[in-house]
Amino acid sequence: MRYAVISDLHSNLEALQAAVGDAREAGAEAFVCLGDVVGYGADPAALIAWVRRHCEVVIAGNHDWAAIGETDTSYFNPAAAAAAAWTRAQLAPDEAAYLAGLPVTARLGDAFLVHATPYQPTAWHYILDLRSAAFNFSHFVEPLCFLGHSHVPGIFLFDEDRRRVRAEPGGVLELKPSAPPNRRAIVNVGSVGQPRDGDPAASYALYDTVEGRVELRRVAYDVAAAAEKILAAGLPAFLAERLAAGY
Ligand code: ZN
Repeated sequence: MRYAVISDLHSNLEALQAAVGDAREAGAEAFVCLGDVVGYGADPAALIAWVRRHCEVVIAGNHDWAAIGETDTSYFNPAAAAAAAWTRAQLAPDEAAYLAGLPVTARLGDAFLVHATPYQPTAWHYILDLRSAAFNFSHFVEPLCFLGHSHVPGIFLFDEDRRRVRAEPGGVLELKPSAPPNRRAIVNVGSVGQPRDGDPAASYALYDTVEGRVELRRVAYDVAAAAEKILAAGLPAFLAERLAAGY
């Protein structure tokens, strides 16, 4: 099975459509979402409808919880807090109920799925470096973990024998048959709707369970259209500006 693993969609319909188109062209047969369906962007209803209809698995992110009052937003920056309040006001009761019912972790084949970190999934910590990645390898048992949350795509490899973690710079992970034994991986699939690594293109991962391969992909989309919708909705201008810069 070839999955497209998407995360941090953030109510950005233009970015989602571009990522989905690319994934289908690349042979994706099913979609999996790692949370933050809503928050920041202008199309929460369309994004919720899409994941409900098309995703085989959807787990909750902190912005999904923020939109239904399930998590404290006092640590959010002002623009994020304003977007959470705006999103909450847009949600129909059944959309809020759908978000409330999402699990916080799941399994997909050989992979553990979580929005933020395997350690304390609902504390919404970040994995941003080798040290935080190394710590988290002891908090899941599967060979592979997919996550998002930081909006920065990347692959961390853990050599169980040497107890060493390193980053895989290429964006491609070969799981078998030539992969070294006792090697596990954390794959941050990045963000579809609000990338923060300096590249505005939508980010997601293809996961082929038969070929044993994970590939991080980038897809350009109509950033200006998404930004205009954010401004038209009366959301903070900063949320529109950051899309073009990818931060
Ligand atoms: Zn996010």
